[in-house]
Amino acid sequence: MGKRAKRDIILLILLCQGMIFNERDQELRDLGYQKHAFNMLISNRLGYHRDVPDTRNAACKDKSYPVDLPVASVVICFYNEALSALLRTVHSVLDRTPAQLLHEIILVDDDSDFDDLKGELEEYVQKYLPGKIKVIRNTKREGLIRGRMIGAAHATGEVLVFLDSHCEVNVMWLQPLLAAIQQDQRTVVCPVIDIISADTLAYSSSPVVRGGFNWGLHFKWDLVPLSELGGPEGATAPIKSPTMAGGLFAMNRHYFNELGQYDSGMDIWGGENLEISFRIWMCGGRLFIIPCSRVGHIFRKRRPYGSPEGQDTMTHNSLRLAHVWLDEYKEQYFSLRPDLRTKSYGNISERVELRRKLGCKSFKWYLDNIYPEMQISGPNAKPQQPIFINRGPKRPKVLQRGRLYHLQTNKCLVAQGRPSQKGGLVVLKACDYSDPGQIWIYNEEHELVLNNLLCLDMSETRSSDPPRLMKCHGSGGSQQWTFGKSNRLYQVSAGQCLRVVDPLSHKGYVAMAICDGSSSQQWHLEG
Ligand code: UDP
Ligand code: MN
Repeated sequence: MGKRAKRDIILLILLCQGMIFNERDQELRDLGYQKHAFNMLISNRLGYHRDVPDTRNAACKDKSYPVDLPVASVVICFYNEALSALLRTVHSVLDRTPAQLLHEIILVDDDSDFDDLKGELEEYVQKYLPGKIKVIRNTKREGLIRGRMIGAAHATGEVLVFLDSHCEVNVMWLQPLLAAIQQDQRTVVCPVIDIISADTLAYSSSPVVRGGFNWGLHFKWDLVPLSELGGPEGATAPIKSPTMAGGLFAMNRHYFNELGQYDSGMDIWGGENLEISFRIWMCGGRLFIIPCSRVGHIFRKRRPYGSPEGQDTMTHNSLRLAHVWLDEYKEQYFSLRPDLRTKSYGNISERVELRRKLGCKSFKWYLDNIYPEMQISGPNAKPQQPIFINRGPKRPKVLQRGRLYHLQTNKCLVAQGRPSQKGGLVVLKACDYSDPGQIWIYNEEHELVLNNLLCLDMSETRSSDPPRLMKCHGSGGSQQWTFGKSNRLYQVSAGQCLRVVDPLSHKGYVAMAICDGSSSQQWHLEG
């Protein structure tokens, strides 16, 4: 078989992973989106082992690492995770880490509600996983911040590696992290976080970017300044990063303790990544992204859980960090959020004392030396270009252009209202050959773009809901469609085919349904 044909078959298999065959599949998919905000049907079908594409720069493949690296304890906290995603995380670590470097894996169950994360996980670990796995159960919900501290307290390896519970590590992921820490104990390192699509679970490469933040105290990705690139090590050199994204990093265990772990007054989720980043830099450490280490992470469009009493923990945690670390610059935060000036944030005296005891530098020093790109808001501030990881500036190549005919009725699929209306439905209407707004483009990303503008989209829907016209996001999944056998039009993340609800009705409604090759499901794109 030719290389191209092979690639096309692999692509086809990938695109069909989410196919819905019966009501059970449909239930599993819809429940998965509800509980986890990703496609659990595909996650379950993938199982616990799979190869992922080696996304490293070619230069990384020639690098070698010392044989006497320090050993690692991998700490994974989870709350209501999909069991298949959690076990794939664990197995990816076991499958792609040299056994002598993996001291243990510590799973911290943050008082999850789902039954399979209790008995079934326990049984699986006892039956199939070697003695290296410890499961710790929190008796009440702690949140990921105290959860990681609990995991770290049980760890005995020299280096701590934190991962989210829906990751897949890539080949040779750990050695470059350990090597950087071995050279300098006060160096904290992050892998490049590759993207696992929430809709298709497809694994794809991320560009090498670094961590920043804005005055709303939100993490953001920044392009790496040219001054940081092009050293003698080229594309394999560690990249100085002002902040970390938070979920995936490695650090010497004694250094983690010495530096004050985390702020245990922070709850559930949010802010701890900026807090530890500022603390590392201001108190004598360093933070790098290691381009030769890659770990995939499922990026979801929403977080599927809240906090126990519905508190806004991101704000609570950000307030604590602002009062401990930002000095006079907390004014920047409060000028954006004046409502928070008088909001209480609990007792921070221990953290203030920690800062004093460690002899940390000022936030001004951090801004001047570590993040000079940060703009102080004011009349002269220049807004920075936001980075979208998913799609570069390149437009995907057009494969076909024309009207989308429903063969049985010979009508056209068009926008119900204006074709430029975001969120609008599509319906079947008589074809109007004078109307360019009825023209679809089918491109190499498998998107269906109406009127050169909006994409046919199935995101955040139940599998039987109708598709909508949304801004093209370029990250595949919910906007990917394939034309298949018996003229079907298959939606990749819904795992179903587009059908006309009632071919006789003038309303022309369409919806998704299990692919059955019937005439209500037959479509043809023609110029
Ligand atoms: N987590 C936890 N307890 C919580 C909230 C989250 O143990 O109360 C875990 C979660 O299961 C995941 C990690 O912490 O493994 C990071 O959370 P999440 O993936 O939701 O954060 P995101 O990646 O969306 O920022
Ligand atoms: Mn996550």
